[in-house]
Amino acid sequence: HGQAGRLYTEEDPLVILTSDTLKQTLFNSSTAWLVQFYSSWCGHCIQYSPTWKALAGDVKDWSQAIRIGVLDCAHEKNFDICKEFSIHFYPTFRYFKAHSTTFDIGKTYRGADREIQTVRQLMVNFLQNHTRRDWPAGCPPLEPARTENIQSLIGLKSDHYTAVIIEDEESYIGREVILDLMPYEGVVVKRILNSEKVLMEKLGITTAPAAYLFYPNGTHAGMDVQKRIRFFFSSFLKLLPGVHRKQPSSVQQPEQAAIKDQSKSELFKEFDKSKVYMVDLESGLHYLLRVELATHKTLEGVELKTFKDFVTVVAKLFPGRQSVVKLLETLLEWLISLPLEKIPYEAILDLANNKMRISGLHLSERVQWLGCQGSSVALRGYPCSLWTLFHVLTVQAASRPDALANTALEDDPLAVLQTMRQYIGTFFGCRECGKHFEEMAQESISQVKSLDEAVLWLWRKHNQVNARLAGSMSEDPMFPKTQWPTPDLCPTCHEEQDGLHVWNEDMVLAFLKKHYSAANISPKYTS
Ligand code: FAD
Repeated sequence: HGQAGRLYTEEDPLVILTSDTLKQTLFNSSTAWLVQFYSSWCGHCIQYSPTWKALAGDVKDWSQAIRIGVLDCAHEKNFDICKEFSIHFYPTFRYFKAHSTTFDIGKTYRGADREIQTVRQLMVNFLQNHTRRDWPAGCPPLEPARTENIQSLIGLKSDHYTAVIIEDEESYIGREVILDLMPYEGVVVKRILNSEKVLMEKLGITTAPAAYLFYPNGTHAGMDVQKRIRFFFSSFLKLLPGVHRKQPSSVQQPEQAAIKDQSKSELFKEFDKSKVYMVDLESGLHYLLRVELATHKTLEGVELKTFKDFVTVVAKLFPGRQSVVKLLETLLEWLISLPLEKIPYEAILDLANNKMRISGLHLSERVQWLGCQGSSVALRGYPCSLWTLFHVLTVQAASRPDALANTALEDDPLAVLQTMRQYIGTFFGCRECGKHFEEMAQESISQVKSLDEAVLWLWRKHNQVNARLAGSMSEDPMFPKTQWPTPDLCPTCHEEQDGLHVWNEDMVLAFLKKHYSAANISPKYTS
């Protein structure tokens, strides 16, 4: 096995342990752990690895209470540690309590059912097995609240929301939502059993599960979600105004705070999340042509080819204002007519400037963001507009299959994706992003066979990036990275199967085609 044959990589939302790190990680840890000791040659382990990754992704937000790890016992380096931990069969699942200081080889889970929902519920039970003394510090209480505690919230003003999940005794949804919201501030989640009849009556709740919300201003109301399932409750709470992911302490540097204050004085413009804004797309193009490209003095070879393909795709597919499309078309004609193997960037800029001056054609005068506004100047903006642009382009390609006829890119369902891939790899200022994107493309882009699949592929990969970046420094606390579209934008896109969130991809495709269609692009703020 080379790199590619490994069952788990650093990209997965779990911790890869080795003999060097196992003990120091598990002992006296501030969180509990669930570790799978596996062997990379064991067929079961290979088959099980997608489930384990899905579980780890599903409980990623619980990491201040319990974390998921793996250790490969087939790796020579790990032979001794697996012996020391008495691992005789693969896979072996072991739980380790938080704050365990004595030598502890963990508790083995012997159940035959290793489905995600079962293991997730076991994790909850295991957490509740901690005593008050060894309780993981980041973990909120998981016991049901009592009627008095909830009643006392009525009419109370506070600096945060309190959500109450009402459920029956067997249900795990309350504890799961409590754990899901652990890394967020601005909301406290409690659970209460539906056997508390007096309270049920008082709040007017007749069926469980249900959720009730106490607002900071002292009012309260039932939580209005389309489906009473974990994902909908959790998403709803994460998206409340004023609720955001806690900043990792390292991020709160003084400079960062200064940037924030500065940008606060700039007016935040209201916008509608269910719309796409032309001003973001044009600002993105402006930035791309004027700033990003400008770092390349001349374009030749792969760069020139990539630039030509990019201009072809936007000139033919960008559903923009007439003047902008005209400008792009002129640029394309000029690029095609030039027999040069090397073009100085200055020439491209001159052309764009001249054309604009002579004929009054123009892109946005300057970069300004609306749907891509960030809470500080360092966040969102350009990369947000680039994602948006490429989603719009894949959707346009799918709805106008002939648009690229008579160009170098005709009849290729991958035309937009490959152009994006080349652009990101060649010009996109964030090198790491380009590397990641290239890895994702190599892994699965060749499976795309139709224009519709291209739309879905880009959506899936974007969500993969969102999952990786959730909680990282490039996350804007005001715009937390979520799996998108969220239930408020598309309730029918979401379903639950065996306790796990799943996408209804037919609905997602229909949603994407509508959301990124020309009809949904608002001209607000374009001059
Ligand atoms: P963005 O992720 O930029 O999304 C913009 C908008 O698209 C959202 O507001 C939402 O309306 C919509 N959207 C969200 N998810 C989806 C989806 N799945 N399908 C369709 N529409 C969606 N940053 C890093 O730190 N590390 C990286 O490795 C990295 N890789 C990147 C790779 C590419 C190709 C690009 C374009 C950007 C990358 N970035 C990376 C930047 C990062 O992905 C974000 O663009 C940036 O952090 C700004 O985030 P945002 O909150 O504005 O939302």
